[in-house]
Amino acid sequence: MIKILLYNPPRYFNNPVVRLYRSEYVYSKIGVVPPMDFAYLCSALKGRDDIEIKILDSNGENLNLKKTKKNIKKFSPDIIVVKATVSTINHDLKLLEEYKNENKDVKIILSSRTCIGLESYILKNYQFLDGIARGEIDSFTDLPNILKNTEIKGLYTKSSPSQEIRVVEDLNINPIPDINELPNIWYTGYHIPPYCKSGYFLTASRGCFFKCTFCPTGGIKGTNFYLRKRNPINVIQELNILNSRGIKDFYFFDEIFTLPNHAEIISKKILEEKLDFIWRCEGKVNFINNNMLEIMKKAGCEMIFYGLESADNVNLNNVKKGQNLNQVRKAILLTKRNDIKVSLYIMLGLPNDSWKSFWKTFIFLLKSNPDSIRFNFLAPYPGTEIFEEMKARGLIDVNYANFDRHLSKENISNDITIRTEYLSEKELRLMEILFKKIFFYKLRDSV
Ligand code: SF4
Repeated sequence: MIKILLYNPPRYFNNPVVRLYRSEYVYSKIGVVPPMDFAYLCSALKGRDDIEIKILDSNGENLNLKKTKKNIKKFSPDIIVVKATVSTINHDLKLLEEYKNENKDVKIILSSRTCIGLESYILKNYQFLDGIARGEIDSFTDLPNILKNTEIKGLYTKSSPSQEIRVVEDLNINPIPDINELPNIWYTGYHIPPYCKSGYFLTASRGCFFKCTFCPTGGIKGTNFYLRKRNPINVIQELNILNSRGIKDFYFFDEIFTLPNHAEIISKKILEEKLDFIWRCEGKVNFINNNMLEIMKKAGCEMIFYGLESADNVNLNNVKKGQNLNQVRKAILLTKRNDIKVSLYIMLGLPNDSWKSFWKTFIFLLKSNPDSIRFNFLAPYPGTEIFEEMKARGLIDVNYANFDRHLSKENISNDITIRTEYLSEKELRLMEILFKKIFFYKLRDSV
């Protein structure tokens, strides 16, 4: 029997860490996201009678290192898949070196989107790792083969430094995540304002065809996190499971939920099945239309998050955002007209950011009046196109420990490692303070 442990490490100095597909960062004290990708991998491997698989979500259950170690020892795995973020990797990998020293045969595999591009650096610094899974961990269904030393597609090892990014090609082959393997802490442990109270992150599609240079989906060099959709029947089946567990709200974690022939179809199905949920999702301003929003509203959509990033077209073009300000204006109006709340993502510290671009964003927000604002500093992750740009322009200090994009004082890292062409670190911090003072009433994490 091969024992596989899917391990989400403890919180970072008491702060929950999001480690799920494209999202890897330290969150505020209240937000805890379940490792849904692990639940998918469980459902893919559980049918095999030679495998015993288990999720240890120390972040979700708020287990400390001592309890975590006890759990690992008790299960005594042959393979450990560990999640990490580029900013917290030292913390995330604690325990495992010691465990490997005590259990020489165990294979330890790292899974991290934000570590893409740093594989050789990581394997050099954490010699006890046996490999790094590049891509979506739930696509690595042949992971047990590592025990036979067989080469695994997308697995970067010292002897075989794969450059391939592996994804789940068909989301309908293994359609339902095995949430029985996750701790049953919906609402009580899992809970992530402003996205949903239950903490349930549901994906009806994955990937994106845009190429925003900062994005851990489209901005990864040579990316193949291409767009894939789930069969709506499978989405409904998952929703029925939620229903039976008393989960009444969730978040569509699709990179873009408002895709043509996607949002309408899923919403229609929810209505046909008479499912009573409240949900929120991410949208792209280019694609929405009145019919889509009307049916989304009827199906329970109460808020859409749009990425504005900056209200300066020079910035938007530079990061290949693939949208213009008119589209954003129209989307906000139309969404509000359909009685769906609007939240806008803003990114500070883009390479061409200046006081002028800040002013433009400030005016845009005042005029368009979104219901809430999600505001972050740019985190130029190593595998992204913007990382290369900032390095070439001398706008970044390459200190991976400080890469967390939540650089504000309420969070962990206070060290801004980025500058822009026109603003120093100090000016960026000042920009942040002003922004927060002006828009404090829009920044609340409500759900
Ligand atoms: S549209 Fe969104 S998901 Fe797609 S590449 Fe841009 S930021 Fe990433």
